[in-house]
Amino acid sequence: MHDQSSLPYDVVIAGAGPVGLFLACELRLAGLHVLVLEQARDPHSALKQLPFGLRGLSVPTLEAFHRRDLLEGLVAAQQRASGAIKSAAHWMQQARRPAGHFAGIQFYQDNIDVAKWPWRLPTPADANFAVDMETLESVLAARACSIGVDIRRGFGVNAIIASDNEVSVEAAGESFRGRWLVGCDGGRSTVRKLSGFDFVGTDPEFTGYSVEIELADPEKLRPGRNYTPTGMYTFAQPGTIAMVDFDGGAFHRAEPITREHVQSVLRNVSGTDVTINALRLAATWTDRAHQATTYRKGRVCLAGDAAHIHSPLSGQGLNLGLGDAMNLGWKLAATIRRRAPADLLDTYSRERHPVGAQILDWSRAQVAIMRPTPSARALQAIIRDLVETRDGATYFAERVRGVSLRYDLGNGHPLVGRSVPDFKLADGTTVGELLRTAKGLLLDFSAHASLRALASRWGDRITYVAGEARDRLGLSAVLVRPDGIVAWASDGAGDVEEAARAAARWFGD
Ligand SMILES: Cc1cc2nc3c(=O)[nH]c(=O)nc-3n(C[C@H](O)[C@H](O)[C@H](O)COP(=O)(O)OP(=O)(O)OC[C@H]3O[C@@H](n4cnc5c(N)ncnc54)[C@H](O)[C@@H]3O)c2cc1C
Repeated sequence: MHDQSSLPYDVVIAGAGPVGLFLACELRLAGLHVLVLEQARDPHSALKQLPFGLRGLSVPTLEAFHRRDLLEGLVAAQQRASGAIKSAAHWMQQARRPAGHFAGIQFYQDNIDVAKWPWRLPTPADANFAVDMETLESVLAARACSIGVDIRRGFGVNAIIASDNEVSVEAAGESFRGRWLVGCDGGRSTVRKLSGFDFVGTDPEFTGYSVEIELADPEKLRPGRNYTPTGMYTFAQPGTIAMVDFDGGAFHRAEPITREHVQSVLRNVSGTDVTINALRLAATWTDRAHQATTYRKGRVCLAGDAAHIHSPLSGQGLNLGLGDAMNLGWKLAATIRRRAPADLLDTYSRERHPVGAQILDWSRAQVAIMRPTPSARALQAIIRDLVETRDGATYFAERVRGVSLRYDLGNGHPLVGRSVPDFKLADGTTVGELLRTAKGLLLDFSAHASLRALASRWGDRITYVAGEARDRLGLSAVLVRPDGIVAWASDGAGDVEEAARAAARWFGD
């Protein structure tokens, strides 16, 4: 396969963050030669560890990991750190189990009406799960290395030359050539800037602070999340604080973060005269919300924070980026292997851009009700009432946990465009397990001879599985893309012509 050209790599990825590493695994799984260039020499950083490195994973992320046999290893790795997570996350100590939050307003698991989600079946991806960035990156890097991805650390990409046939990048004084380049190099992406992507959106209203401090008088602060007339702070004992100061984002990266400055902001935001004895760790962030207008330009693609940035409120950025990688990986691989319909790669931007735009708006909406103004307070009170209703909690859970994700793949069965339910076959095999090879999947619950014949036409791209499922949700057959998205479904005898059109649409002729 690699003899298609003399280029050393099929894909060069800039950035060994979670998105770059997961994308590398996807591409390598499809048999491509992948190089990851990472600017930082050292993968370890205090900000990737607990408490600030903690990231909640959404349902689509957990499903993606389940479908690539990464979930169990990740859960095991997280369990080794779970003692620390318990003491780090203030919400994990509550009696009622929170399911997420909107601008800090929590909604609860016991209020969610899962009957509103008819296309879901029990799956290991249902669990609420959080992991620290360092653990996540180490699990992904270990997988990538084990399957033959070349990862080079200390190589920051600083120049790019893209032609019609290849991309050449410069990093640490060396030159690397590949057929494609993907920028997974984070919010200040060099690849995005050098390749001329437009990055548009809204400017920040606040500077957010994540600090680890030693307090002289911690009793002056209230534990948990607190809205005040001047901002918002979250306090976890003994000295972990996240806070938001509506300064128009002026402080972020403008000046060094000193103990005196953090104390002054904390006093202002908390309305107390609390004293900080020592500043141990500090980082700032903002609610700047920008998005690339397209995720592909010629032979250069963007994924993750390189393609979109927004405030970390309700924790969606990582999940959004991993969703990009799951969507892009198989499409880019099929394109490189010349097995893709002509416009397959265009559907990456077409499908993922609206998902990103929706998350940016979700984060803007949260900022709007966090403003320290009487009208925002009034809006907050309404949201508090809404999240306490069953419909309200279900709606917020759907959005925050990613359950409502559906790509617009045209008309058809209501399942088309959604994540495939984790059907369990009579022998106990699940769809998640069947997707581990990252091929398409035709599930034929009624064993139609015509569907079997159809699948054989795409034998190298689609796995055909016939057999009864323990709960088939009234369906007779389902065609699934390698990213777990339903391309076609039938609840009748099965329209083979329609199935063939869907197969050609996603897997080529
Ligand atoms: C306080 C905070 C809390 C958050 N909480 C959540 C949460 O709960 N859930 C969630 O989903 N998201 C959360 N996020 C967002 C999440 O951390 C990011 O969206 C995620 O890390 C993006 O992953 P990425 O791989 O795209 O980019 P990054 O993690 O930024 O990785 C980019 C990599 O590229 C490297 N790089 C940079 N420039 C170059 C270059 N020129 N050449 C080569 N390499 C380069 C960097 O060193 C880095 O390793 C939070 C963010 C913050 C700040």
